[in-house]
This record gives sequence, C-alpha cells and structure tokens, in this order.
Amino acid sequence: MRPVVGGGFDTLAAMSSDCLFCKIRDGLIPAKIVYRDERCLAFEDIQPQAPTHLLFIPTEHIPTLNDLTPEQRESVGHLLFAAAKVAKERGHSESGYRVVMNTNRDAGQTVFHVHLHLLGGRPLEWPPG
Ligand code: AMP
Ligand code: ZN
Repeated sequence: MRPVVGGGFDTLAAMSSDCLFCKIRDGLIPAKIVYRDERCLAFEDIQPQAPTHLLFIPTEHIPTLNDLTPEQRESVGHLLFAAAKVAKERGHSESGYRVVMNTNRDAGQTVFHVHLHLLGGRPLEWPPG
C-alpha cells in the first residue's frame, strides 16, 4: 500500500494491484478470453455452471456495485450490452440466458472486481439458491 496525502494508505490502489481479475485483464494470469473492447473484457469462468458461463468485467477496477460512482455508470452498464452481444453470437438470444452480479457476502461474491456472469445453454432454475 502506498502512503497518501493526509496520512493512511491508498487501499483501493493496493487492492487493485492484488486483484485476480485485474491480473487476468493485464495478462498476468491466463484465462480463456472471448471478448474485449475499450471498456470491458469477457472470459470463461473457471468453474462453469452452464454450457456458456462467461464473466464480463469492466476494464477499470471497481470492487463491488456499492463502490460505483456516477462516472462509472457507463462502464458497468456497458457490461450488459457486451453480454447481450456475445449471448446472441452464441445463439442464446431466443432460448434465453441469465446475467447475474453478486455483491458481498450474502450473494456469495468471492472476487472483488465487479463482474457480470452470463449463463446460458441450458434451462436455469428460478429462484436461485
Ligand atoms: P462471484 O462468486 O460472483 O464473485 O464469482 C467469481 C467467479 O470467478 C466464480 O464463478 C469463479 O468460478 C470464477 N473464477 C475464480 N477464479 C477464476 C479464474 N482464475 N479464471 C476464471 N474464473 C475464475
Ligand atoms: Zn480488479
């Protein structure tokens, strides 16, 4: 962590440099990348829960939806646009698919870089567990 003006430490910068998905974004950890544009990146989930299980992440490090600033709205909104595009390419538009974003403990968030799950290719139960 680096010291910041006024004392304390810049915890956001420290988390970002230690973030699994930032490392995938930077090519430091391998992943099967399936989509990339100027705002986001998508790769295959390492433990797929459906025939299509992709994770869409904003290029910038945002830990959870709770941390979203007004300036970052488009980064996160863009994930939906990209996910719909890839879902269409994979033939899921008509049959259907699900997008999910887990936030914090009760939702089971395990990686603290905002990500949108895209699940498709099989019927999905509702409600989720
Ligand atoms: P969440 O529980 O919403 O935070 O989702 C995190 C997702 O990241 C889980 O579905 C994991 O299977 C997935 N995951 C963890 N490590 C990796 C990795 N190295 N590459 C791809 N997906 C991963
Ligand atoms: Zn990150």
